[in-house]
Amino acid sequence: MYINGHWITGRDVFTVYNPATGEQIGEAVDGNVADARGAIDAASHAGASWSATTAYERSHILYRAHQLMMDQQPALAELMTTEQGKPLKAANNEVRYAADFLLWYAEEAKRIYGETIPSARADQRFLIHKQPVGVVAAITPWNYPVSMITRKLAPALAAGCTVVLKPAESTPLCAIAVIKLLEEAGLPPGVVNLVTASNPQPIGEEFCTNPKVKKLTFTGSTAVGKALAQKCAPQLKRVSMELGGHAPFIVFDDADPVHAAKGVSLVKFLNTGQACISPNRIFVQRPILEPFLDTLKKRVSALKAGNGMNPETSIGPLINERAVEKVERQVDDAIAKGATLLAGGVRETGDGFEAGFFYGATLLSNVTPGMIIYREETFGPVAAVIPFDDESEVIAMANDTHYGLAAYVYTTNLSRGLRVFEQLNFGIIGINDINPTSAAAPFGGTNESGLGREGAREGIDEYLETKLGGFSI
Ligand code: ADP
Repeated sequence: MYINGHWITGRDVFTVYNPATGEQIGEAVDGNVADARGAIDAASHAGASWSATTAYERSHILYRAHQLMMDQQPALAELMTTEQGKPLKAANNEVRYAADFLLWYAEEAKRIYGETIPSARADQRFLIHKQPVGVVAAITPWNYPVSMITRKLAPALAAGCTVVLKPAESTPLCAIAVIKLLEEAGLPPGVVNLVTASNPQPIGEEFCTNPKVKKLTFTGSTAVGKALAQKCAPQLKRVSMELGGHAPFIVFDDADPVHAAKGVSLVKFLNTGQACISPNRIFVQRPILEPFLDTLKKRVSALKAGNGMNPETSIGPLINERAVEKVERQVDDAIAKGATLLAGGVRETGDGFEAGFFYGATLLSNVTPGMIIYREETFGPVAAVIPFDDESEVIAMANDTHYGLAAYVYTTNLSRGLRVFEQLNFGIIGINDINPTSAAAPFGGTNESGLGREGAREGIDEYLETKLGGFSI
């Protein structure tokens, strides 16, 4: 743990495992409520001087952090593959994505503009000032263990906030590496603090109820996000929530089915399906169903599960046994209710799979609304295909979820693309595009997928308060 500029060691620890091999790869200090409180006090104390720094000073440190992260990319990527499981190439991509947030907010720190507003009174002036919200508590997940940290910390620091971070218990080592790098970049003591813990619940409770914390930013499951938002409500603490998704991927019959199937095979199996924007319901218009499935089946069957350090691996392990069981339950339920299994459908066993959490890349077709997989987020390597007949039907089906994070549409008809873009109730929509994410673009969901946006200009607003001055002259 890192509190008030000191690394805390020599305490009770919890073990960190490699999900591909089951091997112990390290340990982290098992923090408690007193540690969380100490970290919040440190952040609160540091807030006075950090918020008084110039935007140029904060920007300078973030630029340095960006450079350090790019310099350390190979080591960080290897650590990520070992701790989280994704293939090394994907881990390298994530480190670059994570570094992009440091760079973007190094730039954006200098663009925290205020405003003057004309008044109806000749003797009055309105002045709008933007000020940091204060101490930010951040809780991050294991699936993107580096970029989910910089996506929160970079804008918070750029805005002049101080931070206490609690990373996921499966991936504390990546968090430690990021905080070391921020320390090396020159952040003063107390500006960023790290509390690692095997049991997140009491730390989360302290974050939500300690009056010194002014804002909670969370990425994780919808259930936990809702519980934390409720705990923040009595103090009306500001919250940002990046929660689950159940992304539709709609392929209209005017699209090239081969191109669309390639798109699905690339995006669905990224991070072994463990992404909140992973396509979970693949709607394909009936006239092109066959060529679409032919291509997708070939590509899914060719995906090789394995240790992410092996260059031939295209999908890594799931994070733990619970994740494998969830996928098994969804696939078995779908098959029992009449879905057609076209590839995979089994846990990987045998050589190299003895201790890891591997499930084979799976393709199901004829998925219907009565199946669990139609409603519940999968977070695993399963492509679930649902045939449809017309545009209004598919929009209704796509919107028939309490989630609202990402959606994807393949069409060559411009009018249809725009129509569907407008009618889908999701925060992020890729039109013939499987990667509509960037540090420059606002990421976030509608409905129960969350509150607020990360990245882009909007991302820094989450850490700023608007102050109005009315001046009589
Ligand atoms: P997942 O099920 O995908 O692991 P979670 O929402 O459980 O998603 O985890 C995301 C983050 O939330 C992690 O950092 C985890 O430690 C944290 N977390 C989980 N449960 C709680 C809780 N009750 N209070 C605070 N944080 C929690």
